[in-house]
Amino acid sequence: MIGSSLVLRTRSWIVLCLGMLIVGSPAALAADCPGHPDALGTSRTLVVDPREHPLIGTMQYRETLPLKDHEVVLTFDDGPLPKYSNQVLQILADECIKATFFIIGSQAKANPEGVRKLVAAGHTVGTHSMDHPLTFDRMPIEKAEAEINGGIAWTSAAMTDPSQLAPFFRIPGLMRAEGVENYLISRGIQVWSADFPADDWRHVSSDRVYQLAIQRLEAKGKGILLLHDIQARTVAALPRIIRDLKARGYRIVHVVPATAERPATPTATVEWLLHPPTETTPIARWPRVPNFAFTQTRTLPAPALADLNAQAEHQPLLPLRTMAQANVAATLPVPGRALFAIPEGSVEVLLSTTLSRRAATRLAIAAEPPRAAAKDKAAKGKAGKAHAHRTAHAAPAALRHAAQAKSATPRPTRVATSVKKRA
Ligand SMILES: [Zn+2]
Repeated sequence: MIGSSLVLRTRSWIVLCLGMLIVGSPAALAADCPGHPDALGTSRTLVVDPREHPLIGTMQYRETLPLKDHEVVLTFDDGPLPKYSNQVLQILADECIKATFFIIGSQAKANPEGVRKLVAAGHTVGTHSMDHPLTFDRMPIEKAEAEINGGIAWTSAAMTDPSQLAPFFRIPGLMRAEGVENYLISRGIQVWSADFPADDWRHVSSDRVYQLAIQRLEAKGKGILLLHDIQARTVAALPRIIRDLKARGYRIVHVVPATAERPATPTATVEWLLHPPTETTPIARWPRVPNFAFTQTRTLPAPALADLNAQAEHQPLLPLRTMAQANVAATLPVPGRALFAIPEGSVEVLLSTTLSRRAATRLAIAAEPPRAAAKDKAAKGKAGKAHAHRTAHAAPAALRHAAQAKSATPRPTRVATSVKKRA
């Protein structure tokens, strides 16, 4: 009985583990896309809190989405325009890919059904102004606010459930301005730039759109791709882009805003950098230079003594001698004078640290008194030994010093030699 339940448990564990493996693998994503076994699929959903990271996209901002290597977020601007938007929707559906759409208010007004289709297909829907003016960087803030609010009003009006509108905004033409960004941030709306475009709004071929999308993605390794679902060249390039993403091992990430019921995916702040610093690359980029505002320094008042933590008027500004310092000094023995005496003959040792050996020897001989030199020549070290003997009794520390100096220098001095013989 116990044995059979153990077998059952073991089997259920194997089934569970296999299940986990299948869910986490790209093969399972394709299998989850009915009728499209070779689909790229959507590998995961990333929940973001716009208030925590309000400005994203390395084309313009320091931070971007916290994607892992080879993760891509697809974004489409300027729709919905039925002719092309519906084709883009179908291509994405065939690959089971979830993307983010930035809607123009006037497009939503003209084609509210297009907005509902996006929501029904499970895509994320943000906004892109009312009329797409390319003057956000210089228009009065009141006009910018009206543009932002018009886009939000018409896009949410097109939705069956307006709460489905994501607080995501992309400035038309990426014509960013601080006032616009601050207004959006104050409303808890995340400003989406991108990590790379594919130039699909320019008069280029669909081949070129495909090449640019892949080349720029490969250069960064991950990121937010900016496309437009109102262009024929984008519709033509999209299937090839998706096929290539799959062949190169890229994975699609679906981004949704955090809500009360759906908390943000836990991330570290450093993950919001495109290339976070690692142990092998301690500094990924230079720190930002702070913006100093230089005012008239002449008007600055001179600091008062009180500002420097000085307690009394006549107190010195240098650090005060503390009681701890005073006690340490009192307990240390006073060194004897002999400790600092330079024994005879060690001039050469001292000089040899900075001069060549030959030059040091020459200078040492010249420095010695002629009488001592003559005695040395005559008595071959006898006098030196006697002198060293006297010195050893008088100042053993000085001799130890000489012996240490001797061991450090390749050529022994006379004094050092005699000390060694006695030791
Ligand atoms: Zn646009």
